[in-house]
Amino acid sequence: MNVLIIGSGGREHALTWKIAQSPLVDKIFTAPGNGGMDDISEPVKLDLSDHGAVITFCDENDVEFVVVGPEAPLVEGLVDSLQIAEIPAFGPTADAAQLEGSKGFTKDLCAKYDIPTAAYGRFTEAEPAKAFIADKGAPIVVKADGLAAGKGVIIATTVDEAHQAVDDIFGGQFGDAGAELVVEEFLEGEEASFFVLTDGENILPLATAQDHKRVGDGDTGLNTGGMGAYSPAPVMTGELVERTINEIILPTVRGMKEEGYPFTGVLYAGLMITAKGPELIEYNVRFGDPECQVLMMRLKSDIVPALMATASGTLDKESLDWHDDMALTVVMAAKGYPGSYEKNTEIRNLKAAGADDDVVIFHAGTKKEDGKILATGGRVLNITARAGSITEAKDKAYAAVDKIDWDNGFCRRDIGWRAVEREQG
Ligand code: ATP
Repeated sequence: MNVLIIGSGGREHALTWKIAQSPLVDKIFTAPGNGGMDDISEPVKLDLSDHGAVITFCDENDVEFVVVGPEAPLVEGLVDSLQIAEIPAFGPTADAAQLEGSKGFTKDLCAKYDIPTAAYGRFTEAEPAKAFIADKGAPIVVKADGLAAGKGVIIATTVDEAHQAVDDIFGGQFGDAGAELVVEEFLEGEEASFFVLTDGENILPLATAQDHKRVGDGDTGLNTGGMGAYSPAPVMTGELVERTINEIILPTVRGMKEEGYPFTGVLYAGLMITAKGPELIEYNVRFGDPECQVLMMRLKSDIVPALMATASGTLDKESLDWHDDMALTVVMAAKGYPGSYEKNTEIRNLKAAGADDDVVIFHAGTKKEDGKILATGGRVLNITARAGSITEAKDKAYAAVDKIDWDNGFCRRDIGWRAVEREQG
């Protein structure tokens, strides 16, 4: 079977790496791919907003399954178009992708189906939003409704700051994503992510993970797409996983079906573990990046049957085996990220750095040119290791980082610190 994987990040490299190991797969195309994926797949240039072109490519190249990595093409309805063309695809329809595409939509679903989440209000005008904020007091959270690449969330420590956030969002700081906003109660606790596959009715739990969003050691500095992650998340005990499934995931899957938008694909729940238990912060409708990298490292089974069963509604017949080991990934980024950074700097010694069997270097913003690997993005490499403990996985990952010869790169040195502290007592 030929497979087309959409995307170019570390998440898609990890999916490509895992899918390439499947005996069911003959050839993988990646659109657009990156410098690391090129070794195990054929990169293709496709305009992803031109669904007709994607379908024609699939027809001409005997593509029998499409895996959509990032959220934007999902929200834009690529899976809908592929379904109409009868090309099986992994990922939700545009209606179902509203779970990520509209924070207000998700909050209303939570309210209707009794899913624990922060108390909230939805607003399309500044004055009522400001009155709501003044009434609730600070700290309080103001969010642009739509997709804003992780930047549309303002945790305000004062009422003035929250009022300013309302003005900024309605003033057009996030474009159309800020035509509406959500104001919500500030939740206190430890964050964790939980991933499940669902075919719209059945679920197949994957695993838990935690990530580090801030650019600097000690979780300081600007927010980023994610500077590292590990799996499992020690805070997610078996009991909390059970509760998350019963109180959050299953009511969501049922609710989406009842609303007429059955959700198929991977449901990524961003959770706050509060004193009351797990509460939903947000849903993403695709794998996390870099969480996907640690999940794929821990997954023992072939992932392809589960992805296909997710798309075809037969997930009840699937199961997955996992390594007991932990996995940890360190993101190397270009100096200056998340601000401006230099492009096309050369990275050397990747082969030697990734020589250990339990280490895989997934590429994100790279390209291959004349046999050289060049950095082309902000987040560039994901150095991922698996081991019997999180401390060991961390040591292995950083040993590999230290072998990479890239003057223009940097990484945090403390990925997994919370889990390491827990492990070391
Ligand atoms: P991302 O793409 O980074 O996941 P997003 O734009 O989808 O972000 P959210 O996940 O809703 O936005 O929020 C981003 C971060 O803000 C969360 O990971 C969490 O740290 C914090 N946050 C969001 N809502 C709350 C809340 N109600 N209470 C406390 N912290 C919150």
